[in-house]
Amino acid sequence: MRRISIFGSTGSIGQSTLDLIRRDREAYRVVALTGGRNIARLARDARDLGADVAVTAHEDCLPDLREALAGSGVQAAAGPHALLEAAEREADWIMSAIVGAAGLAPGLHALRHGTTLALANKESLVTAGPLLMSEARSHGTRVLPVDSEHSAVFQALVGEERGEVERVILTASGGPFRDWPRERLGTVTLEQACRHPSWDMGQRITIDSASMFNKALELIETREYFGFTPAQIEVIVHPGSYVHALVGFRDGALMAHLGAPDMRHAIGYALHWPERRALPVERLDLARIGRLRFEAPDETRFPALRLAREVMEIGGLAGAVFNAAKEAALDLFIARQIGFLDMARIVEAVLGEMSAGTGLGREALSLETVLAADREARARAHATPIAAQ
Ligand code: NAD
Ligand code: MG
Repeated sequence: MRRISIFGSTGSIGQSTLDLIRRDREAYRVVALTGGRNIARLARDARDLGADVAVTAHEDCLPDLREALAGSGVQAAAGPHALLEAAEREADWIMSAIVGAAGLAPGLHALRHGTTLALANKESLVTAGPLLMSEARSHGTRVLPVDSEHSAVFQALVGEERGEVERVILTASGGPFRDWPRERLGTVTLEQACRHPSWDMGQRITIDSASMFNKALELIETREYFGFTPAQIEVIVHPGSYVHALVGFRDGALMAHLGAPDMRHAIGYALHWPERRALPVERLDLARIGRLRFEAPDETRFPALRLAREVMEIGGLAGAVFNAAKEAALDLFIARQIGFLDMARIVEAVLGEMSAGTGLGREALSLETVLAADREARARAHATPIAAQ
């Protein structure tokens, strides 16, 4: 039996992971499940799967979790320290599906204990990619990509020499506002930004997809995970989301990964890697799909991609600043305190302030420096004139 833990089990990726586990219960022993305030769901899954421990990120939720788990034999725990403790429990495979920079520390702890880390939490690579990857190397363990584009690239590279790769092309659905003129983007409401045309995901990544900040994070994620240069990584808008990514080789060949827009594909690949097993995902009917559309991304209407390239240029702590400013701006948009286009304005302002003459790119990366840069960037984002209006 494989011992597995799922961080962020109550979220979209977490639930899809549990769906795969439930289809083959005898193969797994669930060590830890973690969540936020959805105590009913966390307790239900922990009871159902007989987890050793269930952890809520919020200490004030502990009494409710204890009550919900009473008599089940599942241990209840709460708070950031309990999350780290859960990451240190003996396991063979951990799914990192917490949303945001909060996923970084548990992932690092898991790697230090030699656990294979299936990484949906792209923010860890954006904020501290070199740290995460070197931790995996020095503990002889692996990070397996779960983002659909990165899983696609990972699969296209099987059996290939890294030096033969000329370029990587990430596809972007373009989100619900792909065709909208810039003036109209200023009027986008929270409800409109929460509707994604092809993927069913958590609220935060759905809004990030609409603003293209998700693809911006993924550009940086690609660089950090695979080590390609920024110039080798391209983005193409592909509204159907059938092609997840393409890898171009030096002979001009492009290997594309196609599949239904269902995260259980990427999750299942990471779960069974290095094997490939049957997965309950829809099989594409290409004749019905008929045609695949591609178009160039528009960096004027969606400045996030341009900002991601600046971040890769600066290096060092710029990724932590970029991600934290984006998270804070997203909080403000969700709280209806700023408009849709203000998110990019805030991120650009904070990145500009913090990279001006401070040597952001030269600072050494450690969990402490990353978290300090994260805190400062969030504070500055909240203090920008746009946010404070
Ligand atoms: P979600 O919002 O549905 O779930 C997030 C999970 O994290 C929940 O269990 C929540 O309780 C937990 N969480 C939130 N804040 C926390 C905190 N501060 N401390 C501890 N736990 C916290 O998000 P999701 O859509 O499942 O995405 C999870 C991660 O996977 C994100 O990094 C996202 O970018 C990435 N991802 C998601 C998809 C997708 O299809 N949903 C695809 C690719 C990558
Ligand atoms: Mg993705």
